[in-house]
Amino acid sequence: MILIQGKGASKGIAKGPLYFFKKADTEIVKTVVEDLEAEKARLEEAKARSIEQLEALAEKAREEAGDESAILFETHAMFVEDDDYVETINDCMEEESCNAEYAVKTAGEQFAAMFAAMDDAYMQARASDIRDVTQRILNNLMGVVAGGIDSDVPVLLAADDLAPSETLQLDKSKIVGFALREGSGNGHTAILARTMGIPAICGAGETLDEAYEGRTAYIDGETGQVVLDPDEITLAAFQTKFEKQKKMKELMETMKGKEDVTLDGRHIKLYCNIGSPEDVTAVLNNDGQGIGLFRSEFLYLKSEDYPTEDEQFEAYKTVAAAMNGKRVIIRTLDIGADKQVPYFNLAKEENPALGVRAIRICLNRPEVFRTQLRALYRASAFGKVAIMFPMITSVWEVRECKRACDAVMKELTKEGIPFNPDTELGIMIETPSSVFMANDLAKEVDFFSVGTNDLTQYTLACDRQANDLGKFFDPHHPAVLRALKMTADAAHANGIWVGICGELGADLELLETFMAIGIDELSVSPASVLPLRAEIRKTIAKTCTLDKLEL
Ligand code: PEP
Ligand code: MG
Repeated sequence: MILIQGKGASKGIAKGPLYFFKKADTEIVKTVVEDLEAEKARLEEAKARSIEQLEALAEKAREEAGDESAILFETHAMFVEDDDYVETINDCMEEESCNAEYAVKTAGEQFAAMFAAMDDAYMQARASDIRDVTQRILNNLMGVVAGGIDSDVPVLLAADDLAPSETLQLDKSKIVGFALREGSGNGHTAILARTMGIPAICGAGETLDEAYEGRTAYIDGETGQVVLDPDEITLAAFQTKFEKQKKMKELMETMKGKEDVTLDGRHIKLYCNIGSPEDVTAVLNNDGQGIGLFRSEFLYLKSEDYPTEDEQFEAYKTVAAAMNGKRVIIRTLDIGADKQVPYFNLAKEENPALGVRAIRICLNRPEVFRTQLRALYRASAFGKVAIMFPMITSVWEVRECKRACDAVMKELTKEGIPFNPDTELGIMIETPSSVFMANDLAKEVDFFSVGTNDLTQYTLACDRQANDLGKFFDPHHPAVLRALKMTADAAHANGIWVGICGELGADLELLETFMAIGIDELSVSPASVLPLRAEIRKTIAKTCTLDKLEL
């Protein structure tokens, strides 16, 4: 038996062949080809395959999100055969006797630059479509599998670490679990795994050897173990856990449709955290009562270029409409730190978690902020959208955000575009400064949501990305819990509600403490909703104490 000890990052047991993630290597080198006809045939094959894939994507988009969403892929498919584009590629191959990859890349760059230089904003935005199509043809030429997994059966995906953008692009239907050599349970890849309800372990180290590729392994997302060739006792233990997992799922089914209320009648809102419109299916399947945190930056992470106002509007509208009148809190762009987007060209920083991230980027780049706010307000006409600003430290930041919202509402009114002028505005409490200023901040907004991931990081001065801080990174620390209490007291004194959207919200051990503090809403990964509901329904709110805030 081989036992590798890592750390649990997303609960659950999984079994599958280990598959080591291959990073898309898209460095293109120019080579001279002897047989130009054969090279052209290879190009034709890659183009045909690209068109096939795009037509399938258009079909899928049409089924899931309607005709409008399908148009993008249909346009991409048409561009693969665009006369000028194809001619430029062929000319390059003939003139330089070069490989197809080089010719496609050169033509793609040329066309993208041409569009980017146009005056019209719509045409400029087409540059990213051209890059996208070009990348697809290149992937097909080089045999890079979109989604990164070339396997017919679902796998246990192993990797050193995965960037959030890489995780987002994976084909989830092909993954039963994640096993990472590095990473931290508090980083965004672990958070994504929990949102997707996929078991994950991290910090497994070098013993997770690539030589194990293809061998069946088990992971336990709670204990952090990876096991190959289990002995009889371990195998029996895994089988028992699999059965327990199944029974638990069945038991949780009985919680659907029930109220989130304690035995003594105290209601608490149980909402979900999502990263993309596709996650709404899991929210509805798990009977989430709203969306407490839509991490909108994942739309930017998935893109090769700034998502346009219309692209964002479609995504927000889809979620708002699917939630059918239930509250959908969309957080404005929170990039920086571990969420890097190349096309933003962010300066390299010594301490990115303390640098120009989240709301600081939006306030520094008003055009980016305005585009997102326009999309959000337009979506507010299609459901109960609320807007939330991340990483707030000062009252002036909130006032500036509100001014940007007012300006956008004025524009939309002038243009005759419908929106909800009473869209709720809230902020994340995730810096010590916002806790100390909570009384003043509460006068500015409709709600607070505590981001305990960052609040723990900044309160305890512990990097949430580091995997070796061990007991020093302690979200149960009385300082963090007291910060929660101060925030809740300030919110309630000013007549607004307060929730938690950090990972701590799903911590069953703290449920009674949250009740005693007076938390009004918990926003958690969809898979955590029903277990929390079961626990809430067993709790007596008035007997809950603040014991954990003391030493
Ligand atoms: C948090 O910091 O707790 C939070 C919810 O935001 P994120 O994890 O995306 O930084
Ligand atoms: Mg945060």
